[in-house]
Amino acid sequence: MSNKKRNLIERLDSGPVICAEGFLFEIEKRGYMASGEFVPMVSLENPEALENLHKDFQHAGSDIVQAFTYNGHREKMRVIGKEELLEPLNRAALKIAKKVATNPLGKEQNLMAGNISNSNIWKQDDKKSQLEVEKMFREMVGWAVDEGADILIGETFYYAEEAYAALRVMKETKLPSVITIAPYGENIMRDGISILDTCKELEQRGGDVVGMNCHRGPDTMMPYLREVRKSLKCHVAGLPITYRTTKNHPTFFNLPDNNGCTCKTPHETTFPTALDPMQCNRYEIGKFAKEAFDLGINYIGVCCGATPMLIREVAESVGLKVPASRYRENMENHYMFGKNRRIPKHIKDYRGKA
Ligand SMILES: [Zn+2]
Repeated sequence: MSNKKRNLIERLDSGPVICAEGFLFEIEKRGYMASGEFVPMVSLENPEALENLHKDFQHAGSDIVQAFTYNGHREKMRVIGKEELLEPLNRAALKIAKKVATNPLGKEQNLMAGNISNSNIWKQDDKKSQLEVEKMFREMVGWAVDEGADILIGETFYYAEEAYAALRVMKETKLPSVITIAPYGENIMRDGISILDTCKELEQRGGDVVGMNCHRGPDTMMPYLREVRKSLKCHVAGLPITYRTTKNHPTFFNLPDNNGCTCKTPHETTFPTALDPMQCNRYEIGKFAKEAFDLGINYIGVCCGATPMLIREVAESVGLKVPASRYRENMENHYMFGKNRRIPKHIKDYRGKA
């Protein structure tokens, strides 16, 4: 029976908090969204598919149920000519998230998060576009508060000033605010502010949790998270994508798949539909989560590429036991690689050639 529900900061003060993101990729893989276009119509068209994904992430240990309104903003709805569905889409996504969050698998309810993100019309030094974006944030945040959000998440910002604007709007509600940035391959915000300075400024402006999400895999996000954790006093968030980004290709946007070829000619890029061969395995994601937690980063998750299996790995790597832990890999009883006494010798002996 869930009696007291702790707020986000109480939870973070006492240990790790797990947050599954990456709904866009996973819903697309499950067949309910067009890649590239990426509009979260799923909350209206296939609500049960969205509810199932939330439940799967909850089962895998996500403490936060983030309403799937990423890209569900006025500008994107205009692009696809369905602006009239903006509010119904947002409210449906929020209601589904709330339903799952208030039906926890453990003793304590999950936290339902309202979500705003990169608008893709923000333009540096253009007051008109900036006011437009602020209006988009304000209407979405309003619906989130209406539908009972416990926290607000602003994420995937690549302009520092846009992140500041998002935080300002979120803070008007007094709800705990998580704000995470997603710099591109130049390793700097598009308005020229460094990653570290942007995070410092977000803390100064009252972000309760500040950090990074999306665009970067563990290897190209961690170096910045180390700096951010050292310089900030507030809680820090780290939610990488699950692909093997490199120094030469710090984000997934231009990540090539050379398929073992070592020639110098760049092969075709793979974003967003052919990234699969560069997928991090569960142990790589677990290693990231453990390192982040050991550094003092308590808000940990996975963005694009997230699956319930990887969320479980994150949770277990920071010492948590979750409902899905019951099905953690158990090689003991594998027919060839296991140690079970019943496995015949001629089967075991064949391992090297299998
Ligand atoms: Zn992402």
